[in-house]
Amino acid sequence: MSNEKNPNLDTTRMATVYSQPGETVMVTAVPVHTIIGTSFSDSPAVTVCPACHQSITTRVQRSNGLLTWLICGGLAIFGCILGCCLIPFCIDSCKDTDHFCPNCNHHIYKYKRL
Ligand SMILES: [Zn+2]
Repeated sequence: MSNEKNPNLDTTRMATVYSQPGETVMVTAVPVHTIIGTSFSDSPAVTVCPACHQSITTRVQRSNGLLTWLICGGLAIFGCILGCCLIPFCIDSCKDTDHFCPNCNHHIYKYKRL
């Protein structure tokens, strides 16, 4: 094994533009917005805000989602109709999670349980 760089495996992409003398060639780069290397879950995540381009830890906010209502309906079907079916609305791990930027309040991602 050698540590020399294999020229066939070089990941650097080169663009070669052939032009005639005196001809003007315009090459335009298209910006792409991607969220790289961040996996969002129900807890705050470290990422780069696509709006203000700062490295941030997201602020999370819980909201009632499909899983919350399904558990509530399931409990009601099994006889928990005297308020027990409302328990999922008090448990964060039953809810969806919205991720916001703490600097500019931009909504970055919605983590859904279902
Ligand atoms: Zn931001």
